[in-house]
Parts: sequence; C-alpha cells; structure tokens
Amino acid sequence: MSEPDTAETFTGSFTQQEPLPEAAVRAALAVLGHGRLHRYNTAPGEIAETALLEEDFAAFTGAKYCLAVASGGYALGCALRALGIGPGDAVLTNAFTLAPVPGAIAALGATPVFVETTEGLTIDMEDLAAKAAGAKALLLSHMRGHICDMDRLMAICAAAGLPVIEDCAHTMGAAWAGTPSGRHGAMGCYSTQTYKHLNSGEGGLIISDDADLMAKAILISGSYMLYPRHRAAPPPAAFERHRLTTPNVSGRMDNLRAAILRPQLAGLPARAARWNALYRVIEAGLAGTPGLRLVERPEAEAFVASSFQFLLPGWPAGQVRAFLARAALRGVELKWFGAPEPQGFTSRHDSWRYAPAQQLPQTDRILAGLIDMRLPLTFSDADAALIARILRQEAAAVLGSGEDRAAIPQAD
Ligand SMILES: *Cc1c(COP(=O)(O)O)cnc(C)c1O
Repeated sequence: MSEPDTAETFTGSFTQQEPLPEAAVRAALAVLGHGRLHRYNTAPGEIAETALLEEDFAAFTGAKYCLAVASGGYALGCALRALGIGPGDAVLTNAFTLAPVPGAIAALGATPVFVETTEGLTIDMEDLAAKAAGAKALLLSHMRGHICDMDRLMAICAAAGLPVIEDCAHTMGAAWAGTPSGRHGAMGCYSTQTYKHLNSGEGGLIISDDADLMAKAILISGSYMLYPRHRAAPPPAAFERHRLTTPNVSGRMDNLRAAILRPQLAGLPARAARWNALYRVIEAGLAGTPGLRLVERPEAEAFVASSFQFLLPGWPAGQVRAFLARAALRGVELKWFGAPEPQGFTSRHDSWRYAPAQQLPQTDRILAGLIDMRLPLTFSDADAALIARILRQEAAAVLGSGEDRAAIPQAD
C-alpha cells in the first residue's frame, strides 16, 4: 500500500473516558449532602449504597454473594487470603498479566509461578497441567479480556484439586459459553478503576457462591462486627465460624464510590455493545494487513472490548519501534509488551523480580510482537476506522522500507 500524500492524523485521546452519567452525579451529590460516606455509617432504616451495589452486582453476575472493596488489586489479595494462601505457597498465574496480579500473590509471602501464554493471549493448558502439581491455587487472569476455554481449564484444575480465583479486571460483563466471567472459579475479582468497565476512580468487587470464603472475605475487608449490615452476604452461621480467627486487613469501599457505580452498572450492557462495535471496526480495518496478525476470538467467548491487541509476529525490535513511533506521529498511541523495560501499564514477567526468575520462551516470543491499544468510549466508529487505516499504512511503510524485510514472516 502506498502512503497518501497528506497523511491523516488522529487527534483523540486514548486515556479520556466518558463523563459519568447524570444519575451517577446526582447519586454522588446525595451522599456528599448527607455525609455518611463510611459504609457502616447509616441512618436508622437506611441501607448503605455499598450494600446496595453488592446486591446489584450479585444479581448482575448471578452470584450468591458479593463484596465491594477498595481496589481490584485488593480484591485479588483478599480472595487469596480467604482461600488460606500464605507464606511459601506456590500460586499459579498467567505469565501475561498486569503487575497487581503477581503482586497480590507476593504480598502474602506466596510465590507466583507463571504459566505460558497462547497465540490467543490466554493461559496455556498444557503448561498449566504440567505445573498444577504442588501449587495451592490458580489466580487466573483474563488479561485484556481474552477468555480461555473455561470448561477445559476447570476440568484440569478440578483434576489437580486446584482452586481457581478469577481476575476479571477486563471481563466484567463478559462470558464463556453463556456463564458470566467470574462465575467459574471459587471467587471472581473485578476492578472499578478508571480504565476498567466501570469507573469509580479506584474500587473492586468480589463474588462467590461459597459461604465460608465470602464470610472470611467480608471479615478480612474490615467489617468489624458490623457484617449483619451486608445484604449480598452469607448467613450469620458462616460468620460465627470465622469472626474471631480472621485478621482485619481493611480495604472497604465507601458509599460515594458505590453510589456512582450503581447507575453505571445498569448501563454496562449498552457500553459493552459500543466497545465491541469499535473493536469490530478496527478488526475489519486491519484484516489482511501483511505482517500483522489479529487475535482470534472463540465463538464461546462473549467479550467486552475495552482494548484491542494484535501481533507483529517475528518483527525485529527495531521495526516494532519504528512502527510505534510512526503511529505515534499520527496520533495513535500504542503499547508494546515486548519492550525490555516496563513502560506505563505494560510490564512483563521478567520485570517482576521479587518472583523467582522463570523460563517462559513461548510467552516471550508472543509478547515480543504484542501491541496493545486502549479503546475509550469517547471514540466514534469513524475514529476507529481512521485508527485502523493509520496502522495499516504504517505497518506497510515499515515493512516496505525495512532492511530486514526478508526476515519478516507472513502472518497467515
Ligand atoms: C487493573 C487490573 C487489576 C487491578 O486493578 P486495580 O483496581 O488497579 O487494583 C488486576 N488485574 C488486571 C489484569 C488489571 O488490569
């Protein structure tokens, strides 16, 4: 493809989210107006916004129980603690994930053991089966919203007696074969941080059907002896079993954040549809681009595309850098998971040096060509089409001028 004389540029911001809906602003003002921000600070007869959010989210996912907490990372740590993970325990997790995931394991004195990554950007089942013996749990990260074959994964983990905690930071509202993401494992953890599917600045949610795990999680989050004020919570007997033996590691959510999340949750299915429309425009625009491979999305996977990934398989680092620089000049901000030093949100297993160094050649090969792009809902379909045109032209420009051209394998 030849370069156009006057190159189009994109002027949108990859980090600008939409404003919060009017209903969220009104709900926030109501909480600010009465001042009862702490979740256990309720007027007689009042139900805290936080307890209501938990009920809403339990209903949204179909879970029996739900707990709102301070962040997605806190949710992961809280779930691991509830499961009894402690010092010296080996916990399996995806080699391709975000820093708070191995961080939550290491913060408990446990050891993150990384599992290889497939071309579909999900956990490698053979490597998982090989590493299952001796591990205490799997912290499964649905990184960037890519969901593995959950039926196969749960069968492998059941056979190995391995409990599963799901990191659903990028899969709130997504599903595998009709079952909501977060409902396969013993507990599902979500983030409501600004760049995820709901925006409360910071925040997290945990769901489970297991009364003991959820009673412990609520006690850990800092419920003092006020847990009867929870609604999407297990019966009192479950708390009786754990109330005096469970440490308080405070990480509650407050009523202000819960208040702004509830109207957003109601609007999530509509937002998911808009994200996926943007995704499909970019996917169609990039299809067939020489040297560039799209990530296949299985039919059973109902995803929420708050970001877009593609692969530049076999590209030398210099050409990837040239591509990123050329795209940036035209306003398209990309992240590269193959960079040797962590940048922004993209770090990789070899920069988490608190964990023992591990050989992950398959993951390293995939990450070397993995490009990541945010898709904020402030983008229009026309924006998405323009972004795809720019990427297509710049990939062609780099490959066309590259001295290592012969080294670039054809993407299928
Ligand atoms: C954002 C994120 C988290 C943690 O969420 P925070 O709310 O930022 O603590 C966990 N896992 C993944 C994959 C994430 O992207």
